[in-house]
Amino acid sequence: MLKIADLPRTQKYKSIAVMTSGGDAPGMNAAIRAVTRFGLSLGLDIYGVTKGYSGLLEGEIHQLNASSVANIIQRGGTILKTDRCLPFHKKSVRQEAANILTRKGIDALIVIGGDGSFTGAHLMEQETGFPTIGIPGTIDNDISGTEDTIGFDTAVNTAIDAIDRIRDTASSHDRIFLVEVMGRSSGFIATQVGIGGGAETIIVPEKKLTIAEVCKTIERGQKRGKSSSIIVMAEGKKPGLSYRLAADLTKRGYSPKVCILGHTQRGGVPTAHDRLLASVLGASAVSYLLAGKSDCMVGIQKSEVVAVPFKHVVTTRKALPAELLKVATTLST
Ligand code: ADP
Repeated sequence: MLKIADLPRTQKYKSIAVMTSGGDAPGMNAAIRAVTRFGLSLGLDIYGVTKGYSGLLEGEIHQLNASSVANIIQRGGTILKTDRCLPFHKKSVRQEAANILTRKGIDALIVIGGDGSFTGAHLMEQETGFPTIGIPGTIDNDISGTEDTIGFDTAVNTAIDAIDRIRDTASSHDRIFLVEVMGRSSGFIATQVGIGGGAETIIVPEKKLTIAEVCKTIERGQKRGKSSSIIVMAEGKKPGLSYRLAADLTKRGYSPKVCILGHTQRGGVPTAHDRLLASVLGASAVSYLLAGKSDCMVGIQKSEVVAVPFKHVVTTRKALPAELLKVATTLST
């Protein structure tokens, strides 16, 4: 069972701000609620920054109370809104952001987001000394230093639910279906969805498969009397990659159908797992800040909450466990 980090308080912080940044993920609201309610319980003032770094630069900072975060734990998206802010890549802009927070009397900033948002927070703290801490919120689970991220479990469950439905129609019509899931440069979603959804083939950016290999898995299934087949693939650099594979399969005499799950995986009610993870990480982020830890991300390693330096998080690539891919291949044959 996950436990909130319980650390001795060393900092006399009075006010902490929280924001969501980059891609949204189900469970972000549960994290905002946890930061707010846990912070208030320790006598802090909590501020919410609207629309990520863009909102911060526009001074969109409002005080939150216990009621501000009532009735949100079950809601997808983020009540604080999120954004991508190009100007934040500039040093002078990050200095201005730190000045805005300081003028508001805020002592530290909690950023719920992905590695891009953490790079921004890390640079701001390095350059200005303004304390920041990150909470991993992304459906892709591609953040180094943590085994889990807020939103991943929900996205996987959403995609598996879709595959169960697709399988009904695939088997009724004896069809091959290519189901494209999110995952730009990592196959975490595709692998878990493929295993959990019983896919015949899983295609991830980490392991190239030739068209001949894909055909082989289809033929193997057909030899066993299977007339339908589900191929799960990660979207890769650009959504729509599955149409290329579909065209290649068509040239070889198959008639595949394509289903791109796209943004349906981002929304929806967060699972119990994501709500719990977000609640524990949200409270732990406050705990770490008050214990004097910053320029880091709270994450999960071996079922424990840990603080991982941003430097490691933003410079290391998280590898897809080889065993997971092996399980996927073994079970699909
Ligand atoms: P995510 O946090 O989900 O990975 P992005 O990569 O889009 O999402 O990053 C979110 C925001 O974080 C960007 O719009 C930008 O404001 C900030 N950011 C990303 N990368 C950098 C960077 N290298 N330097 C400064 N800020 C960055």
